Amino acid sequence: MHPVRNVVLLGATGSIGDSTLRVLRKHSDRFNLLGISAHRQGKKLCQIAHEFRVKHVHLGREDDLSGDLPAGTKFSTSPSALDELASLEEADLVVVAVVGAAGLAPTLSALAAGKDVVLANKESLVVGGELVMQTARSSGANILPADSEHNAVFQCLQGQSQKAVKSLTLTASGGPFRDWSVDELATVTPAQALKHPNWSMGQKITVDSATMANKGLELIEARWLFGLPPERLNVVIHPPSLVHAIVHFIDGCSIAQMSPPSMTFALQHALLFPERAEGVEEGLDFRQALELSFFPPDLNQYPCLRLAQQCLDQGGSYPLVFNAANEVAVDAFLRNQVGFTEIADIINSTLNTFSFSPALTLDALLDQDKEARQRASACLSQLA
Ligand code: NAD
Ligand code: MG
Repeated sequence: MHPVRNVVLLGATGSIGDSTLRVLRKHSDRFNLLGISAHRQGKKLCQIAHEFRVKHVHLGREDDLSGDLPAGTKFSTSPSALDELASLEEADLVVVAVVGAAGLAPTLSALAAGKDVVLANKESLVVGGELVMQTARSSGANILPADSEHNAVFQCLQGQSQKAVKSLTLTASGGPFRDWSVDELATVTPAQALKHPNWSMGQKITVDSATMANKGLELIEARWLFGLPPERLNVVIHPPSLVHAIVHFIDGCSIAQMSPPSMTFALQHALLFPERAEGVEEGLDFRQALELSFFPPDLNQYPCLRLAQQCLDQGGSYPLVFNAANEVAVDAFLRNQVGFTEIADIINSTLNTFSFSPALTLDALLDQDKEARQRASACLSQLA
């Protein structure tokens, strides 16, 4: 018998939410889903609440609730209630599957309350990495990386000493436009960008994968999670997305983690850590031919990655500004207001207009995030 752990799942209706629920269904003897949240999708949230008999439900807006919740369920809508949900007394684990910088506040609430956090939301570390890591250190809460590359690094590091680590390599599929010329990239439509060759994910991260802004955000995420300087963090294109990350050690040995391109593997590992159990899906079958190619990204093709690397090198508030501008630009691209290659232009112009002195409180970070979005929107209006 295993102790049953109470899980709060923030962003339950999204793609990571779906994959997390698959793991919870598979291991229903080990987990009780105590609380869930979503931004707008009230109907889906109600269905999840019924299936898992969830006690605490949070939705961004009351009007979006359609359907009844199970009797006795506590329902809330205010932002402060989301923080309360993230720090519920009975919660053992909080999965942060919210998209964007909106994940920062609940991640901090959970960590400050000493809850272990299964962290899929990378933007929280990009925006407030120092504060997030400091909050975890002071409360003693663990951050269990759920982004597949970071979960892969975490797996490869088990039993190793930090001093023995030379560098990390994160892999990237290169997205759907890997073989497109820079001129062709200017013609990419949202529908084309939303078709990822390997992974099925939410809209924002799918576009981020196509521009490789996602890998840039992940380098910054890795900097905070694993405490390595930029020059020891690398990116390589690996089209089949079977190797998720490689840790290189000072003795010249490298350890890589492999699994099929589905988030259930990383999420189950993080949820069950340090145990392992049968997975939701089959692992790789090496009796079949597997092609494992790796090559360096062409930064002319992926200017968002170049910009993110520059922000990682410069540190301070640059990653926060990068993230805010990227969120604004991707949203505008998805609404057909700007072209695909203009995403990088908006980020670049926003970064050129200013930077802040680094903030170390949530309020200050949120203020900077807001201002960076305003600047990005101004850059966008000049283009659109
Ligand atoms: P998604 O868009 O499919 O789902 C996002 C979830 O967050 C939804 O439940 C939505 O209701 C909620 N949400 C949206 N805006 C919110 C707000 N302002 N406040 C509170 N909740 C809000 O996104 P996703 O693809 O599941 O990604 C979630 C996070 O996980 C992102 O940070 C992404 O980068 C990261 N991630 C995703 C994948 C993947 O395979 N999808 C892989 C690795 C990392
Ligand atoms: Mg990833």
